[in-house]
Amino acid sequence: EKKLRESEERYDLAARGANDGLWYWNMKNNEIYYSPRWKSMLGFKDEEIGSSPDEWLKRIHPSDKRLVQENLAEHIKGNTPHFECEYRIQDANGSYVWVLSRGLAVRDSKGKAYRIAGSQADLSARKLIEERLAYGALHDGLTRLPNRELFMDRLKQRMKRTQRHPDNLFAVLFLDIDRFKVINDSLGHAVGDQLLITTAKRLLLCLRPEDTVSRLSGDEFAILLNEVQDVSDAIRVADRIQAKMRETTVLSSVNRNTAVSIGIIIYNDTYTQPQDMLRDADTAMYRAKALGGGRNQVFDTSMHTQALILLQLEADMKRAVKNKEWLVYYQPIISLADGKVSGIEALVRWNHPELGIIPPL
Ligand code: GH3
Ligand code: MG
Repeated sequence: EKKLRESEERYDLAARGANDGLWYWNMKNNEIYYSPRWKSMLGFKDEEIGSSPDEWLKRIHPSDKRLVQENLAEHIKGNTPHFECEYRIQDANGSYVWVLSRGLAVRDSKGKAYRIAGSQADLSARKLIEERLAYGALHDGLTRLPNRELFMDRLKQRMKRTQRHPDNLFAVLFLDIDRFKVINDSLGHAVGDQLLITTAKRLLLCLRPEDTVSRLSGDEFAILLNEVQDVSDAIRVADRIQAKMRETTVLSSVNRNTAVSIGIIIYNDTYTQPQDMLRDADTAMYRAKALGGGRNQVFDTSMHTQALILLQLEADMKRAVKNKEWLVYYQPIISLADGKVSGIEALVRWNHPELGIIPPL
């Protein structure tokens, strides 16, 4: 009797001390003992929960119910070493909380389960951290917009859709704030951050919920316009964004209107990779900047060719310095009054190994 009392005390202490709720299912009379902690975890008082299995099962989220029942059945049948399942369960306020339940069956000599006991742990804190981590991995911390990775994924999915339904067009806009560094340098980085947040908000105001706005990095944003009929639709949106951005913002008591440059690209079936579309939108944006900024430009393939030529030229010039391909010509300056040499102009010419002498222009 003493041993029995000790064992009961031990059990009682464990049940009260444990942070997890405990349950004990007698399969002979189909009753479950739920520990006070099991009940209080869900916001119930001791007397508010009876002893039927339904007190548990009826509260499980409809989408998770089958999973729990299947896992239980598998363990009772002896197909799994223990029962274990993560699911949502409704609390006294009617909201769902994430829990983890584990259990173990006791079997008779024929292997038939006649008792099963286990625990239920509150996972809300862990689930919250998991959700935050998952969100943080795909969103920009400053503006809360989707980041580059999420944008590229959505763009990829969107390309696939148009590959199946070719009439279903979409556009990508690449946006960069003009002379953003001036804000940082004159008003400070924190004010620069404020402008980035304002930009994100304004972009969202100009777009439909099904479009994606993303902050790629620094002062660069990309927009996926989900449905466009033709390029004029995309230009209209870009114009709208530029007008919105020009509205005055008060940045640390200085009135500013922000100019942005936008490159536009409409999908066509030569694109297979999302990064190629983004690259071309970026090239068009660069052209908009070169033309003075505060405007938008639609991409055309000659821009890509020109960008490649420029890139090649830059590489060639670096090589020219190393290989001493520069030639210096001295051109005398002659005074017309007396025909004397009054000075010398030094001119540099580039003797390109393949293209020959390249004139300064
Ligand atoms: P451009 O007109 O050619 O676009 O020149 P810009 O001054 O806007 O400069 P650019 O777009 O080349 O570079 C963006 C700058 O944004 C570079 C960096 O100092 C600054 N920047 C990058 N990330 C952040 C950020 O998170 N906060 C702030 N405040 N500034 C940032
Ligand atoms: Mg910029």
